[in-house]
Amino acid sequence: MKKFQIDDQCIACNACVQEAEEHFKMNDDQGVAFIIRQPETVTEIERCQLAMAACPVESITFNS
Ligand code: SF4
Repeated sequence: MKKFQIDDQCIACNACVQEAEEHFKMNDDQGVAFIIRQPETVTEIERCQLAMAACPVESITFNS
């Protein structure tokens, strides 16, 4: 199953959290975002894809 992931290029801009706060969260200690819950519904997947598109450094991927 495909999963959203965040690589270490994240610059902690918070854009993904603003797009999909039920799925992305900032780890302020490490200065990166992380996934708190993978999307399950089509709507949730679309929301996470918006977050992926909003990422300025293409840190978010959607892979198996
Ligand atoms: S949008 Fe990209 S760079 Fe910004 S916090 Fe999310 S993963 Fe990091």
